[in-house]
Amino acid sequence: LLQPKKRPGIYVIHIAAEMAPVAKVGGLGDVLTGLSRSLQRKGHLVEAILPKYDCMDYSRISNLKELDLELHSSFDGQTHKNKVWSGIVEGLPVYFIEPLHPAKFFWRGQFYSEPDDFRRFTYFCRAAMEFLLQSGKRPDIIHSHDWQTAVVAPLYWDVFVPLGLDSARLAFTCHNFEYQGAENSGAIAACGLSPQTLMRPDRMQDNSHHNKINLLKGGVVFSNVVTTVSPTYAQEVLRPEGGKGLHGTLGVHSKKFFGVLNGIDQEVWDPATDTLIDCQYSAHDIDGKFVNKQRLRERLGLASEGEDERRPLVGCVTRLVPQKGVHLIRHAIYRTLEKGGQFILLGSSPVPHIQHEFEGIARQFENHPQIRLVLKYDEALSHAIYAASDIFVIPSIFEPCGLTQMISMRYGTIPVVRRTGGLADSVFDVDDERNPEEKKNGFVFDDANEGSLNWGLDRALDYYSQRPEWWQDLVKKAMLIDFSWDTSADQYVDLYKQVLSKANA
Ligand code: ADP
Repeated sequence: LLQPKKRPGIYVIHIAAEMAPVAKVGGLGDVLTGLSRSLQRKGHLVEAILPKYDCMDYSRISNLKELDLELHSSFDGQTHKNKVWSGIVEGLPVYFIEPLHPAKFFWRGQFYSEPDDFRRFTYFCRAAMEFLLQSGKRPDIIHSHDWQTAVVAPLYWDVFVPLGLDSARLAFTCHNFEYQGAENSGAIAACGLSPQTLMRPDRMQDNSHHNKINLLKGGVVFSNVVTTVSPTYAQEVLRPEGGKGLHGTLGVHSKKFFGVLNGIDQEVWDPATDTLIDCQYSAHDIDGKFVNKQRLRERLGLASEGEDERRPLVGCVTRLVPQKGVHLIRHAIYRTLEKGGQFILLGSSPVPHIQHEFEGIARQFENHPQIRLVLKYDEALSHAIYAASDIFVIPSIFEPCGLTQMISMRYGTIPVVRRTGGLADSVFDVDDERNPEEKKNGFVFDDANEGSLNWGLDRALDYYSQRPEWWQDLVKKAMLIDFSWDTSADQYVDLYKQVLSKANA
């Protein structure tokens, strides 16, 4: 076990449900790895604790080994055994908890969407905290993320501080307020917390369903510092439309609540070194981008010769959930076709009726020369699409941060986005005179309707066709924007330091 006595930096342990590339469903996974690597480069000691899912990408974990330690943790009033594994993911030390519980909590072939998710993750949090206690780890900061690990904060104060695990301050990041983990109040007792004490409006009682306990709210109330993933989203969730029931709670705790824009891992997402794309390129030599476009067209059976060669290629890589504006994504496909462009969608949906609807559209365009829908999760294909596309659409209804607009720009693909959350903090319309010239980098529309989307998408398609040199300059400019974690990680360090100095005072 890594047990440094003296160190110059801050000792941070993340407890989370995702970590790219081994266990990634969405942006949370990218953030955990990107932020941690950046903190590590700045001299801090960062570790992570994850469930040991059966469906992880084990090929991306090095030195995976079982620790010589029997971890006991309590659940449903009984003691259960767990195995703990250590491994290295992208240079970061990670501990994986494998419960030896008859319910086989992380042996389900998928990360989420199991009927007992509340139990799976409250079990995991309890075991993760037991691991800290029993292994003698004493981090400065315990950083938990989203509803799945929000219960770490109340567990810390109510159960583990009395047991002597009291070195830490608690940081909590909410990556999306839509998912809150609300359950009948008794369910919280399984991990050792008291429903009677916590079922109060100023603690963990759900603000809308008063018989439910709300894990996300517990993370907000009981952590020393709470962040979300962009400044604009941090404002939006303080309002009733954005807070999904938690705006009041966030208002009460607004002094410890901050919006820090995510970065992207610029080493993972780098067209100059990316081995998942056909031809590497950089802002200084963007010819390779066109090679990628031609190869992807050939691979997916889109028209690529003669007149077709000049068509703009519009890409979209997304989870197909209502938040992402699925009706507008569908509309963008038809609009692009009408305007003479090509469209590639890579997406998959956990919502059966949405998946079904898009399967219908995919069939409609099965052998179409200009449109292709690939309805699955495919990391390698996502890289190829970022590299090959000219334009990228993100018509989200709300978007806490969004990474795909930043990844697109890094690959010289110009985003068309709705002005919401982190999209509003990272994409600045080329035609909006309020934006300083050096910031202009894409196309922004305001309303979640087809007309508004058309206004953004049409301008992008028209500029691409009518002003090719201007477009090339825009591509180069977008590629040179710094979306690294560097600045954002500094903001996290400042917040960690603030709560640590308050604790010392
Ligand atoms: P969210 O976390 O809401 O899904 P983000 O924009 O923050 O959205 O992060 C999405 C991440 O997941 C990006 O790295 C994107 O490339 C990736 N992604 C989304 N859907 C797919 C898919 N079908 N195949 C591969 N990668 C995907």
